[in-house]
Amino acid sequence: MSNDQAYYDAIKQKFAEQRDLRLGYRPEGTTQFTSDFTGELSRYAVDPYGGEFTPREPIDDFVEVLFIGGGFSALLTSARLRERGVQSIRIVERGADVGGTWYWNRYPGVACDVVSYDYLPLLDELDYVPKDHYAKGPEILAHCQAIARKYDLYELAVFQTTVTATLWNEDEKLWHLETDRGDRMKARFVICANGTLSKPKLARINGLESFAGHAFHTSQWDYSYTGEALENLEDKVVGIIGTGATAVQAIPGLGESSKRLYVFQRTPSSIDIREDWPTDPNWARRLKPGWQARRRERALNLPLTETSHKESREEKIRRQENANIDYMMRIHRRIEAVVKDETVAEALKPWYMFMCKRPCFHNDYLPTFNRPNVHLVDTQGKGITEITEQGPLFEGTQYELDLLIYATGFEVQKTGIYNRIVGARGLDLRDKYDTGIRTLLGVHSVGYPNLFIMGGYQASFQFNLTYILQMQGDHIAQCIAYARAHGHETIDATPKAEEWWVQEVIANRGKTTRNEECTPGYYNFEGEYQRRQDGNYNGGVTRYLAHMDNVREQMAEHFAFS
Ligand SMILES: Cc1cc2nc3c(=O)[nH]c(=O)nc-3n(C[C@H](O)[C@H](O)[C@H](O)COP(=O)(O)OP(=O)(O)OC[C@H]3O[C@@H](n4cnc5c(N)ncnc54)[C@H](O)[C@@H]3O)c2cc1C
Repeated sequence: MSNDQAYYDAIKQKFAEQRDLRLGYRPEGTTQFTSDFTGELSRYAVDPYGGEFTPREPIDDFVEVLFIGGGFSALLTSARLRERGVQSIRIVERGADVGGTWYWNRYPGVACDVVSYDYLPLLDELDYVPKDHYAKGPEILAHCQAIARKYDLYELAVFQTTVTATLWNEDEKLWHLETDRGDRMKARFVICANGTLSKPKLARINGLESFAGHAFHTSQWDYSYTGEALENLEDKVVGIIGTGATAVQAIPGLGESSKRLYVFQRTPSSIDIREDWPTDPNWARRLKPGWQARRRERALNLPLTETSHKESREEKIRRQENANIDYMMRIHRRIEAVVKDETVAEALKPWYMFMCKRPCFHNDYLPTFNRPNVHLVDTQGKGITEITEQGPLFEGTQYELDLLIYATGFEVQKTGIYNRIVGARGLDLRDKYDTGIRTLLGVHSVGYPNLFIMGGYQASFQFNLTYILQMQGDHIAQCIAYARAHGHETIDATPKAEEWWVQEVIANRGKTTRNEECTPGYYNFEGEYQRRQDGNYNGGVTRYLAHMDNVREQMAEHFAFS
């Protein structure tokens, strides 16, 4: 902490320079990535966990509620629907099981960054207490499977199947769904539970397709190549592109197991300490039924931090920014203390405000760079721009690799991935959104009756995503129950309600550090220009929840029924 404002201003200046440098190198925003894995990139469109593709006859039937996607969104909403007596529920999922994120992401070291007692949903309902303070991937996947078993969701579920079209039939007042397995399913209600981060993307790098070695994306980890415990990497030279949240978890294991590891970095993550421990069995035994619901309730009612009434808006912003810089400088000092090579330590320092990129917490990531077999290739914001048959080529140096791993992330918060959604009057949702996203609460969109969106834009955002998804799931289940109870065939938001919400999103967008002033990354659309309505609702979780309650208290004002 310093009393000298010039100290903070100088750091802010460096943040801005580092951001501008990166925007200069990659001005093309989100289009610097591709998730079109066809043609020469088709080797990245695989599911290494699904085993044999089970042949089956095309399905041609009707269900009352159909979920596109089988992750937490589908699971926790299904639980609420079952509680309200809905029998006919189907999950359609590309993977071979439920789990979503936790089905696909099985890279070594995969774990949740949110405390397990908060992140894992339905702990009260399943009478389950997580094993550790932070849950690891396999435990989360097992929890997803336990939810599906408890609520009988496997019965009608269809796996290894991608919904390719979701078409509204006005005469029947039903959704018609087409899939890549030739199915023609019908459903009264459809819930887009396709995930906020579920479609893997690769950086568009010249020569990407020419690499002759083995390669995969972190969400499609090929254990048949690496070995279950990475034992096959002992004689392999490995490269990993990306240093975001996934890479931070995978790199320690790769560093330990590979003959040599090259880490290709564009922008470093901020790495703080991870306070993990096994759950205390005495604490777990003392928990009373309903403990998780009460814990969530308490989190929502936390008192706001006090501010002096005399403080002006500018002073408040300055105080918050300075505290943020103090935190980031503490992250820098931790790097200096842990990483022995000064040049490497310098390169690992993040020069941006906290929360500009997803913050990471790991105790083994930084020490991995002290290993003699681990080499950081810091591209200083440029990113790798060329790959040859042998591997990445950067500023004249050719990195010859056996294995190249892409830790390049996912498409973010898109509704209707792999899938064309066409509503009443033949309007494709993508065309509607072309002139700006339009929803009510991020969940309903006019002209798409009986369709509900989870994890999309115009909803509140929180570091603990299942918290928001649970709010949306509760809301959707209540809307469906209301329509059923009143004998309505359809429920659709009114144009007036939708317009109110779009304006609410715009009014609350603000100028946050997460957007205009941040280093490019997926939190701010890689620095790309965005319409003010094309993002999350920034009015706060408590207000988002209150708006949802109000909307449901005045259903007739916000929805049209038929
Ligand atoms: C590596 C990683 C780490 C994460 N860590 C955290 C964390 O620490 N804390 C946190 O709060 N959140 C975290 N998240 C976010 C995480 O995605 C959410 O917490 C949550 O699991 C999302 O659940 P979901 O059901 O909405 O989506 P997902 O779990 O992504 O499930 C969506 C499913 O839909 C399927 N699908 C998509 N389109 C179709 C289609 N057309 N047809 C059929 N199936 C389709 C996909 O295959 C996918 O399985 C992380 C995400 C990733 C990728």
